[in-house]
Amino acid sequence: MKVLIIGGGIGGLTTAIALQQRGIACEIFDAAPSNKPLGAGIMLGANAMNVYNKLGLGGVLRDHGVLFRQLNIMTYKGSLLQTLDNKILEEKYGAATYAIHRAALQQQLINAAPVPVQWGKRFIRAVQTATGVTAHFEDGSTATGDILVGADGIRSAVREAHVTKARYRYSGQTCWRATVAITLPDAEQAATSETWGPGNGVRAMYTQVGPNQVYFWMTKRMPAGTQPTPEASLQLIKSTLHNFPGYMQTVLQHLRPNTLIHSDLYDIAPLHQWVNGRIVLLGDAAHATTPNLGQGAGQAIEDAYALARCLATEKDIASATEKYCALRMKRVHTLVNIAWNLARATNLRNPLLIALRNGVMRNMPKRMADKQMDFIFGVQLD
Ligand SMILES: Cc1cc2nc3c(=O)[nH]c(=O)nc-3n(C[C@H](O)[C@H](O)[C@H](O)COP(=O)(O)OP(=O)(O)OC[C@H]3O[C@@H](n4cnc5c(N)ncnc54)[C@H](O)[C@@H]3O)c2cc1C
Repeated sequence: MKVLIIGGGIGGLTTAIALQQRGIACEIFDAAPSNKPLGAGIMLGANAMNVYNKLGLGGVLRDHGVLFRQLNIMTYKGSLLQTLDNKILEEKYGAATYAIHRAALQQQLINAAPVPVQWGKRFIRAVQTATGVTAHFEDGSTATGDILVGADGIRSAVREAHVTKARYRYSGQTCWRATVAITLPDAEQAATSETWGPGNGVRAMYTQVGPNQVYFWMTKRMPAGTQPTPEASLQLIKSTLHNFPGYMQTVLQHLRPNTLIHSDLYDIAPLHQWVNGRIVLLGDAAHATTPNLGQGAGQAIEDAYALARCLATEKDIASATEKYCALRMKRVHTLVNIAWNLARATNLRNPLLIALRNGVMRNMPKRMADKQMDFIFGVQLD
């Protein structure tokens, strides 16, 4: 069997690695002209790290990432809303959550992939027959395999041309990210805080992701498509976060306009079709989510493991893709919806509603918090 993977991002590359473990051949195609080290940081949840442990990559990713002991959600006035103990995650689920630079993650996945990514290959359409599927690329070239995986991200061309049309939902929030060349003091590295402002979608975080690399992000409620210049963005970030505590003001001093990555935060309304014959969707192409749970890539990584397993163990492609959807769809829809509702909760502007929300978060019964953690991190994929 040969699998054509469209998209050499986290989902596509992890699929290639998982297929190799199952003895299945693949080719990987990406529209980007080359592998450019892009992006800022990313949190790899304990569930994602567990998949990488199974794929033999846990050690190298731990070496390139940073372990923090605790993740806190705080208000900008310094009051604790929720806390997550990474040590407990490790004890309970067998892996901790790591922070890593996206470029480091991408490079390690490329190093581990069984075949090189074929860059400059923009997928435009596919043709299916009884015996195979042929991908057509913008440069006029083609490739034929037994199954085609659309891992081409939220704006998936594979999905839109061959599976189903997505309904994009704007979360109401825009986001700036950057990497800052500093090293946080030990105490700041031990506990990472996501700090919530006085409503209006304002949240921010900084965390060490590598040697002399701190990942910073801020969200804010704004109309979609607002495009301030990088200089205006930096001014806006600094004025929005001027009263945020901790090491934030030092991090802000090191931000530079030309390193800011700005994107509006969208998800896609849960899709009930991920498959059309020999074509199957994976990762953001199937279920892009707002990043409120830090689980978008985590779910792409779980998909990759599950799809490879189904292709290796089921009797044919139809049964494998059916089983894959049965294993994955309900879980990711639940996570997409939780993340969507969290975005809405942070968009609030009414002080009374904000106080109520904070009270609910602070007083969440331990049983309920544990149940949520079990759901997010305690997934069984074998
Ligand atoms: C602000 C922000 C913060 C986030 N933080 C986290 C986090 O902390 N933890 C987490 O788990 N997730 C996080 N996510 C989500 C995570 O980034 C995505 O879920 C993840 O990157 C999805 O991987 P993917 O491989 O499915 O898609 P992508 O990463 O989008 O990769 C798709 C690939 O397909 C290629 N491609 C696109 N179109 C074509 C085409 N027509 N032909 C060929 N190739 C094509 C692209 O070049 C790209 O390389 C965050 C997202 C955002 C926006």
